[in-house]
Amino acid sequence: MFDLTGKVAIVTGGNGGIGLGMARGLAAAGARVVVAARNTKKSAAAARALGSGALAIEVDVTDETSVNDLIRAAVAQCGRLDILVNNAGINIRKPPHVLSLGEWRQVIDTNLTSAYLCSHGAHAEMQRAGGGKIINIGSMMSIFGAAYAPAYAASKGGIVQFTKACAAAWAPDNIQVNAILPGWIDTDLTRHARDQVAGLHDSVLRRTPAARWGVSDDFRGIAVFLAGAASAFITGAAITVDGGYSILG
Ligand code: NDP
Repeated sequence: MFDLTGKVAIVTGGNGGIGLGMARGLAAAGARVVVAARNTKKSAAAARALGSGALAIEVDVTDETSVNDLIRAAVAQCGRLDILVNNAGINIRKPPHVLSLGEWRQVIDTNLTSAYLCSHGAHAEMQRAGGGKIINIGSMMSIFGAAYAPAYAASKGGIVQFTKACAAAWAPDNIQVNAILPGWIDTDLTRHARDQVAGLHDSVLRRTPAARWGVSDDFRGIAVFLAGAASAFITGAAITVDGGYSILG
């Protein structure tokens, strides 16, 4: 059910934060993990720490050629592709009337178009492998809005609907596509948020029933579950991993 021995997984943004947490889970379950991000030094260190034959491949997920090169290189070096985690993401925190078109595009390209590019490129390889698993990373902003995150919220809402479309299209290929919606997790991304949004740290603690910020290792289990046989009949779902943040009105 939870054994990923012999499987190959690409994790975009797998060199830190939530991506590295998921990569740790996948590697511990036996998968060979490809850490795919821009910072090659950070990715190489992550791959070394993961062990289990993990390797690092440089990618800019906003660039179609770079994404296609990543998939080609991963299959050339590992022989197959079974699991894709679309995790790379950024935020630019400004209200809509201040956010420029360039900033809007940067966020949408990194968080949403990237998932299209990687999934589009991975599909044929997963068909060849007899099936596959795609895990897209949404957010609480797939559900809620925030005045300071118009492009981010649009990208994360889009991720959920894109997940459903791919799940429907690729179910006949035995490819399950699901989304994870993290709550507030302590990573580089939210360290910046806490600098920029006054009172955020305490308001998250107050609102989260689990009464703590999440940590990257909270994503090990869900990654293994959604990447393995245990979730064979689950597709198109958006699963919150949020310590209960989203259950309160
Ligand atoms: P981090 O900033 O720690 O990680 C972001 C990752 O994305 C890095 O590994 C970065 O690597 C990679 N990345 C960014 N841009 C690109 C790019 N153009 N090409 C390739 N890789 C890129 O943030 P988190 O771990 O917090 O975020 C991971 C995901 O989880 C994101 O999608 C985020 O929106 C989502 N999320 C996070 C939450 C949180 O509370 N932390 C809550 C909800 C969702 P590099 O710079 O080396 O390219």
